[in-house]
Amino acid sequence: MAPKIIRTVAALRKEMAPWRAEGLTSAIVPTMGALHEGHLRLVREGFTKADRVVTTIFVNPKQFSATEDLGKYPRDEEADVAKLAAEGVNLVFAPDPGEIYPSGFVTAVHMEGPAKAGLEDKFRPHFFDGVATVVAKLFIAAGADYAMFGEKDYQQLQVVTRMARDLGLATEVIGIPTEREADGLAMSSRNRYLSKQERQQATAIHKSLTQAAAKIRAGGKPQSATRAAIRSLTTLGFKVDYVAARNAETLAVPKTAGEPLRLLAAAWLGTTRLIDNIAV
Ligand code: AMP
Repeated sequence: MAPKIIRTVAALRKEMAPWRAEGLTSAIVPTMGALHEGHLRLVREGFTKADRVVTTIFVNPKQFSATEDLGKYPRDEEADVAKLAAEGVNLVFAPDPGEIYPSGFVTAVHMEGPAKAGLEDKFRPHFFDGVATVVAKLFIAAGADYAMFGEKDYQQLQVVTRMARDLGLATEVIGIPTEREADGLAMSSRNRYLSKQERQQATAIHKSLTQAAAKIRAGGKPQSATRAAIRSLTTLGFKVDYVAARNAETLAVPKTAGEPLRLLAAAWLGTTRLIDNIAV
């Protein structure tokens, strides 16, 4: 059955209130649409945690900078809703920007810590305050028990986890492993912009991260492993923004041996920027 499409916070609350009254739990899956198997995995994992799943589709203007093209972001609500219907999603929350940011809106959630790790934030300075603000609004609007976020956007996952804890929101953030193509490329709505040749080259990101992780596990220094990954990606034609080994939770530069580490990378292939990360 096709899920109801909800456009306002008031209507969302009205739909979700009876679930709570009946003792049913709920999970929210925030997305910007253009749904692929990675998003659908979050939905499926949502149903393993909760009785009801709400997917939000909102292309958040606050996380785009003036040079990033908000208007060009792929949108296909009809196709997205059909995919969500096939997964049995209970509600789709797809508000207009004016519903989330009504005229006169001046509040923002500003974060330090994982939001200022010198990774994505260095290249997209407005991004995480935009994410934290909209995710806080979505959590408050839905009041769900769980929120499913992909490890694909690992810094974002750490940022929203910290934000929900710091603000004492009732929603628990659950991280879900990255869904990949058969050759290892992390699924992303941006992969559609790759030419045939770039699509083949793109597998090198996951390969170089896997190699770097193996070197570190074998006792190699994180810095020399990430430097080697940057060299090999650059040789293959990528313009690398970063490859870094960081504390897996705080995303700080590791200080002691034995800290849990995460390897994170961002690199351009032509005009497409790809990100990926793996556990060490
Ligand atoms: P987006 O629509 O790109 O903002 O992503 C919405 C959610 O889907 C975020 O929590 C992402 O981390 C997650 N996501 C995107 N791609 C993948 C993937 N390949 N595997 C798992 N989750 C993903």
